[in-house]
Amino acid sequence: MNRAEEDYIKTIYELTIEKKQEMIKSNEIADRFGFTDQSVNEMIKKLEKKHLVSFVPYKGISLTKKGKDVAIRMIRAHRIWEVFLTEKLGFSWENVHEDAEMLEHATSSEVLEKLYHFLGEPKYCQHGNPIPNIKGKMEDAISLSLDHLEVGQTFELLRVIDHKDLLIYLNTQHIKLHDQFKIIEKDAFNGLMKVLCQGVEKTITIKTAKMLFGKLI
Ligand SMILES: [Zn+2]
Repeated sequence: MNRAEEDYIKTIYELTIEKKQEMIKSNEIADRFGFTDQSVNEMIKKLEKKHLVSFVPYKGISLTKKGKDVAIRMIRAHRIWEVFLTEKLGFSWENVHEDAEMLEHATSSEVLEKLYHFLGEPKYCQHGNPIPNIKGKMEDAISLSLDHLEVGQTFELLRVIDHKDLLIYLNTQHIKLHDQFKIIEKDAFNGLMKVLCQGVEKTITIKTAKMLFGKLI
């Protein structure tokens, strides 16, 4: 399987999780990659021949068991490499995505297992995304986003969207995982939230708040 095929499989898997649906439409895949519908359809045909996806006309595309296994293996490799790059090589969290993206395709299962043990079998990457264990089981991704909180509620940040610009912005605001946020004011009309983050008052946009996930405390 080549890298483009693996990326498709991983993307289909991520879309099914994000959208909480079994079937994905080819235009949703095209949107994600910025490809044409036609090139997506050609790739889907190829993947269908390899029994990685199944396609039902007018309904959509889903991963077969074999396809899901490939996706989980890629996600696992990606997140394990992220932990290695940040914890052992000192990369910051906004700079690991591209390297992990390359490494995930180039890692044998033997190297990956050794690396996983070497890192102490981590459960989450630096962005708070769950890492599947060797059997492919993982914790559910935390799904309560900060914009859903009401004034007076407090929240611990446990996961952020792995998006470079967001991560750079969070650095400038000194916001990191496990920080506590207390909502002081919500201005839905202007799309702003005033929060106390680790005791310091900050104003963040609802758009940013939608990319920050955690639990109530
Ligand atoms: Zn990550």
